Amino acid sequence: MNTKEQKKAEGIKSAYAENLMRTYAPELILVKGQGAYVWDVYGKRYLDFGAGISVCNLGHCHPALTEAISAQAARLVHTSNLYMNDVQPLLARKLVEKGFDDGLAFFCNSGAEANEGAIKLARKYGSATGRFKIITMQDSFHGRTLATLAATGRGKYRNGFSPDMPGFAHVPFNDFEALSNAIDKDTVAVMIEPVQGEGGIIPADPEYLKKVRALCDARDIVLIFDEVQCGMGRTGYFYAFQGYGIQPDAMTLAKALANGFPIGALLARKKFASVLSPGTHASTFGGNPLACAAALATIKTFDEEKILENCRAMSELLFAGIRKIASKKIIQVRGRGLMIGIVVACDVRKVVADCAANGLLVLQAGEGVVRLLPPLVIDRNDVDSALEILAEALK
Ligand SMILES: *Cc1c(COP(=O)(O)O)cnc(C)c1O
Repeated sequence: MNTKEQKKAEGIKSAYAENLMRTYAPELILVKGQGAYVWDVYGKRYLDFGAGISVCNLGHCHPALTEAISAQAARLVHTSNLYMNDVQPLLARKLVEKGFDDGLAFFCNSGAEANEGAIKLARKYGSATGRFKIITMQDSFHGRTLATLAATGRGKYRNGFSPDMPGFAHVPFNDFEALSNAIDKDTVAVMIEPVQGEGGIIPADPEYLKKVRALCDARDIVLIFDEVQCGMGRTGYFYAFQGYGIQPDAMTLAKALANGFPIGALLARKKFASVLSPGTHASTFGGNPLACAAALATIKTFDEEKILENCRAMSELLFAGIRKIASKKIIQVRGRGLMIGIVVACDVRKVVADCAANGLLVLQAGEGVVRLLPPLVIDRNDVDSALEILAEALK
């Protein structure tokens, strides 16, 4: 191994150890990306089936993105929302046109922040009738801020940060009885990931979501979908809800919205969105021209390069290929589009490490689930390479 590269790696590792909080425990040092591939500091190439946790859906350093970001950076980066800019409304219109009917948008900078906005919108809507309670799902993940932690249905993330923010209740996912029993006079919203991501790639049952939609309509309850991970084409539909034939009242996006440039969005139907009047919610960076230009270029590329079609075609190949892997370690394969979970009977961390050693990056989710979130631009060769490495790791 080249000593110059080794020296560089040692330098980076010690700079991490000496200067960064230990909130993460990374091992690889990545320095370059192109399409579905990333390279580490030693020059080793990896097929990236994590895509920065469902962020780089168009792959790394897509030229359309690089160009749009560079051009906007040279024109106008930030103004605050004390002024209008000429990019933010174009993005809002585009997100509505993509299928969020009757919608208005609010922009922020991350998934947690988008969910905070949805929670505030619901509470503001409920304030007229004295309702505040939000029901979320067990095993859900909604973010790391205090409100989104309280919404998150996995207690381990809350350890050490008590007291929990009040006003949340958790029920088992895909259990309509449990949900309808949990609704009381204080309930103002139900918040659901149509396909749970961190919890282990668990899709909602179509019948369940239809019933939840009808229940929320009947009880004047705000139905919020957290599409931070499953939105933006990941499931083979631009919005995951489009695969279920129902529309939520509010929806959050972030991760893949600008393919890696930080941005979050809250969309809501006008009736609900209108409760957020001037001065009730804000974000300094939210919707700045640079982030919005990156998101617009992302969506334009989706259309130009037929990304959804490719996602569906590669999804079929990948699902079929995984199902053909003869391994006693595989318990179940599930998911939608290119959001795939392989439930395994062995140590997931070892599978992840073995894949990385052989040049494939995959992720963990929930307990015992290998999570695949490849860029939606992968081709047949990428699928074949991934399957080969996965089969080896699951031997
Ligand atoms: C990642 C994620 C979030 C949090 O997004 P951040 O940008 O990390 O704040 C929220 N909800 C879901 C479903 C996510 O996958």
